[in-house]
Amino acid sequence: MRPTGRLHLGHLVGALGNWVPLQGQYDCFYFVADWHALTSDYSDTTQLTSFAYENVADWIGAGLDPDASTFFVQSLVPEHAELYLLLSMVVPVPWLERVPTYKEQQENLKDKDLSSIGFLGYPLLQSADVTIYDANLVPVGEDQVAHLELAREVVRRFNNFFGNVLVEPQPLLTTFARLPGLDGDKKMSKSLGNTIHLADTADEVKKKVMQMYTDPKRVRADIPGTVEGNPVFVYHDAFNPDQAEVDDLKARYRAGKVGDVEVKTKLARALNAHLEPIRERRTAMLARPDQLKEIMVEGSRRARVKAQETMARVRDAMKIVYR
Ligand code: ADP
Repeated sequence: MRPTGRLHLGHLVGALGNWVPLQGQYDCFYFVADWHALTSDYSDTTQLTSFAYENVADWIGAGLDPDASTFFVQSLVPEHAELYLLLSMVVPVPWLERVPTYKEQQENLKDKDLSSIGFLGYPLLQSADVTIYDANLVPVGEDQVAHLELAREVVRRFNNFFGNVLVEPQPLLTTFARLPGLDGDKKMSKSLGNTIHLADTADEVKKKVMQMYTDPKRVRADIPGTVEGNPVFVYHDAFNPDQAEVDDLKARYRAGKVGDVEVKTKLARALNAHLEPIRERRTAMLARPDQLKEIMVEGSRRARVKAQETMARVRDAMKIVYR
């Protein structure tokens, strides 16, 4: 995860929520992709490390466990850069130019300078991030499948030249679709300002929920409303465990027999109940900054041992060894 901002409910359902159950099944590595944050925002790095600390506190808040998994910081494992460099010698530029997000983001993010080598190369850096740990599986959403396909092609090409050195990673497809924004936009996203942060207080959550976009044709409570795709109900489905309450609200909404205030008040209550233990854990973690740093440094040390083993193998295979 890139430390480019505070984490929000979209990250919770689309990423963290999927990662937590993997910890019991796999040897998991989760990392702060601080170099990746520079691929689109290189000129202002003032908040990079503070976002990194906050993000890791959010992971712990959401239930990731640094004793069960390895947490690390990309820049504390500089072998990622070495593997990226070596892969870049082997990989044709057009492979990167045809990654769908390359042109898409250049067109959509006009306010950013995406003409750098770093931006073009970021899917290749991802390939290095994954293969340096001999990763078999990468938990990704649909939007990242093309990047993982690139990683697989890169591995095949590299292995073709140098022998069976790197492992081809497979996607472990995550299930949750995009969480819409508070404003009804199809994606909750920091760049759209339509987010509820894990750091928001209960009052802030309530205030944001009360201002949420709903069905615009429902100017009065007695007009039947649409539930499908209505963000208030998407959130109820995602966060309200009281199925009977959600079913009742939906039925009355469709019949024009419930006001937005009741639907939203119940959503705010369910959301706050869901977020409260997360908030408590993240706050407790941020209150112990030395321990938080130690978790990141110690995890990075463990990750680096594995990364160094892989790099020794890669240098051997490429015959770049002086001893
Ligand atoms: P980046 O750091 O590349 O800009 P984001 O912050 O957009 O990426 O997202 C990081 C992760 O969280 C990705 O796995 C992404 O799919 C997931 N994510 C972000 N926003 C949402 C959302 N609104 N709904 C579901 N998943 C999301």
